Amino acid sequence: MITTADRQDRYTVFVCRHERAAVDRLRAEIDGRRVALISDHTVTRLHARRLANALADSGLEVTATSFPSGEASKSMATATSLLDWLAGTALARRDIVLAVGGGVVIDTVGWVASAYMRGVPYINVPTTLLAHVDAALGGKVAVDHATAKNLIGAFYQPKAVVSNVGYLRTLEPRQMRAGLAEVIKKGVIASPELFEFIERRHADIRAGDPATTARLVHGASVVKTSLVAKDPYELDLRRPLNFGHTIGHAVETVTGYGPILHGEAVAFGMACAARIAERRGLLDRRTRARLTNLLAAVGLPVVLDDLPVWLDVPAALGALRQIRKIRDGVLRFVLPVALGETVIADDVTEAEIRDSIMAGAAGYGRLRTG
Ligand code: NAD
Repeated sequence: MITTADRQDRYTVFVCRHERAAVDRLRAEIDGRRVALISDHTVTRLHARRLANALADSGLEVTATSFPSGEASKSMATATSLLDWLAGTALARRDIVLAVGGGVVIDTVGWVASAYMRGVPYINVPTTLLAHVDAALGGKVAVDHATAKNLIGAFYQPKAVVSNVGYLRTLEPRQMRAGLAEVIKKGVIASPELFEFIERRHADIRAGDPATTARLVHGASVVKTSLVAKDPYELDLRRPLNFGHTIGHAVETVTGYGPILHGEAVAFGMACAARIAERRGLLDRRTRARLTNLLAAVGLPVVLDDLPVWLDVPAALGALRQIRKIRDGVLRFVLPVALGETVIADDVTEAEIRDSIMAGAAGYGRLRTG
């Protein structure tokens, strides 16, 4: 005898421009339940404390905590201390955990919410552009392990996402640029309209214009949620969302996750993948130039010399060789063929990868790159 069980997740992504609207939306989602608000120290000082006070002033029972900012906090140690903290609060199973912060807060708190009492509802309130357009959406929650990033985690969808682009006014320009890389990626893989919108309006976005940024975040949310809906548990590894991530991942691995921001590594990875696609005759020169020109105009790295630190190219090639070995000789590349369209290539050679990485690199001599 066989029985089957269905499982479906549905949540609203609300994008607004002011904290007032965010508070109204949060109150509707929280619906009188208790709130445990978790953030990092930086965001607490800038926004989360004020948000907690606004929710408490509206009559909700709010308890709050925070942990040190930065990737090092995305750890089992932080998760354990948050679980201890939750156990000391009056939070019950139907109450709400609120994750207020960038990707580090959202990934860590989401995972804690997935584990506490076998899962309590959580709402994401992203505060970096990367979190608005990527980390807050899709329900991939995790902490890092000494041996690998995001090693310990789950798929656990939020109850809602409340995006207030007003929080981005305090974000460093470099973090804004890194977030934009992930939106440009979404434009290339699935939405020529989004790509063209960024081409026209990237200066306004970087200047923090709230109306333009809200449109950008909404456009990116539509692309991400529709792609995730097709494969919420990432069973298919041939995912267009990985565009730029093959070489990007190698760059982050050999530079130690920190000196090069994730978005910067992805931007460089996209530029390399586009060069491979052009050389294979899959992507026309004009479209390849549009992509690299947009990345460069935003201030993102497209050639080696643009990277903020020296890249050990042989080590990066070695990291890719290692991935190929682990995956039974298959290294997957998402290659763009037009705006909004990609193909997956399993047969990209090491020579193609090296050429794409070295293209236009004036400051890297032959001897130093091996
Ligand atoms: P982050 O959370 O570390 O934030 C970057 C810095 O900006 C931190 O110092 C933070 O305190 C500060 N900050 C946050 N909001 C601010 C604001 N409004 N004003 C001023 N400073 C602010 O980094 P991130 O780039 O947001 O996220 C990176 C993490 O996200 C990585 O761990 C990555 O693995 C994860 N991520 C997850 C997904 C996913 O699908 N779950 C997707 C992409 C990235």
